[in-house]
Amino acid sequence: MVPVANVDMICAIAIYPVDVAMKYVVVSGGVLSGLGKGVTASSIGVLLKSAGLRVTSIKIDPYLNSDAGTMSPFEHGEVFVLDDGGEVDLDLGNYERFLDINLSKDNNLTTGKIYAKVIEAERRGDYLGKTVQVIPHITDAVQDWIEDVAARPADGSGETPDACIIELGGTVGDIESSPYVEALRQFQFRVGRENVTFVHVSLVPVLGPVGEQKTKPTQHTVKELRGLGISPDILVCRSSSPLNDETRNKLAAFCHVKPEAVMSTHDVPNIYHVPLMLHEQGLCDILDVDCTATSILEEWTAMAHHLDTLTEEVHIAMVGKYTDLSDAYLSVIKSLQHAAMAVDRKLVIDWIEASHLEKSWDATEHASAWKLLRNADGVLVPGGFGDRGIEGKILAAHHARTENVPYLGICLGLQIATIEFCRNVLGMTGANSTEFEDNPEHAAVVFMPEISKTHLGGTMRLGSRPTLWQHEGSIIRTLYGPGEAVDERHRHRYEVNPDLIERIEEAGLIFVGKDDSGQRCEIFELNGHPYYVGVQFHPEFKSRPGKPSPPFLGLLKAATGQLDG
Ligand code: GLN
Repeated sequence: MVPVANVDMICAIAIYPVDVAMKYVVVSGGVLSGLGKGVTASSIGVLLKSAGLRVTSIKIDPYLNSDAGTMSPFEHGEVFVLDDGGEVDLDLGNYERFLDINLSKDNNLTTGKIYAKVIEAERRGDYLGKTVQVIPHITDAVQDWIEDVAARPADGSGETPDACIIELGGTVGDIESSPYVEALRQFQFRVGRENVTFVHVSLVPVLGPVGEQKTKPTQHTVKELRGLGISPDILVCRSSSPLNDETRNKLAAFCHVKPEAVMSTHDVPNIYHVPLMLHEQGLCDILDVDCTATSILEEWTAMAHHLDTLTEEVHIAMVGKYTDLSDAYLSVIKSLQHAAMAVDRKLVIDWIEASHLEKSWDATEHASAWKLLRNADGVLVPGGFGDRGIEGKILAAHHARTENVPYLGICLGLQIATIEFCRNVLGMTGANSTEFEDNPEHAAVVFMPEISKTHLGGTMRLGSRPTLWQHEGSIIRTLYGPGEAVDERHRHRYEVNPDLIERIEEAGLIFVGKDDSGQRCEIFELNGHPYYVGVQFHPEFKSRPGKPSPPFLGLLKAATGQLDG
């Protein structure tokens, strides 16, 4: 890479175990947010991995929240959940999916976390006699954090990674990200300039009737970054069309980078093309790695082309609350995509705003929402909080149950399907969740006893927990394959009322998976239905390209008539 180990070095490591320094790739962004910095950073990770390196990542979020758990999906997109229960930025989901690794909550560094750490140290007396300041105390703590977390194994091998991608959230020049820019500036001296590659992601707008590619925004953001002491080694320019040579040369001249280190990430049909496109432009040479050392890029090429060539559609109705903002359901969308590829179908998600299904809604919108629902090959009700749209979701579950339409309910989607079943099959008309009604006539879903009623941050039932199979022969168990239990990630405060389990099961909705107490419903499946499955956990957080999550695969198989046998 400028600094990453090449394959000869990797072979040398195998024969003579010398202590090779960790390589860091720091990815910052300029001009505006939403340029796909996370996808670019993850794609660089894929290239390093394809060169045979073990790769991990750290996302820095300069906000004051400790974690993303208390943030609204409206503002920040989905809250991604890790095995250890960390509620983190959705970019960590990109890293886990692209690199097939498992990260921990410490891989998401926030201002909330770093200040809490420094203030705690101050109270302990660690800085006795000193004035505690952003520089050097916060900036040192940031660098210590990075070095510590980068060295932790992430790919399941137990081995220390060879390279760490560090993504700095926000845009360079923001007040709140400046301590991190300063920490990263210093970091190059701490670990050696040869061990750090700075990548800056920027925008090249295309303007005017002849489609001129404008370089000025990128010139400005690089000037800002260099003013803060960081000179980028590589520029990645987001643009609608491939950068032409003139633009590339101009950017190189004005931004103090080599022309061949100016990369273009232009519009492509699907994101699997991004690592391939960077490879084609010579990024592996710039990083001084051999990306053909493994078969990983070949697999990505196959995936990208497979997705491009799918034509036969499958329609999945997604009945949710944030349907204008697909980032709120990013991992669910990705999981549907992984499963659709496995059944050779082009995925079409029909977004249905749950409240539009309710009777009281505007007649035209109500009719079009129902039309989408009735025409769907499968229905998915994702996780959610709060009572908006709940009755609409219950109607969607009712439709799927009674019309034999494949259904997957995730977390809240399991809870509302249980309420529907209690109301319409068991005759408990007033059934509800205590999340939506204080004292429902029948509490079908209740607050879990161990959950805090005073603190909302980090207090849900979170992270990876086992689900133990209760019966042989269910569809969902067959999909998961051999084993007595499955581990999936959780994020909830409410559960199906354990007192009702017996009655519900007698009527045919079987709790085929329970937690290790045997009392808590983790998975239900409806007898005699082609595919009516609810999961209390969030399987979307463990789905990977080429390794679709079983509940999603079941939904897509059932929706395309491929489940039998
Ligand atoms: N609001 C429900 C609960 O807290 C469901 C949560 C979810 O869907 N993640 O249990």
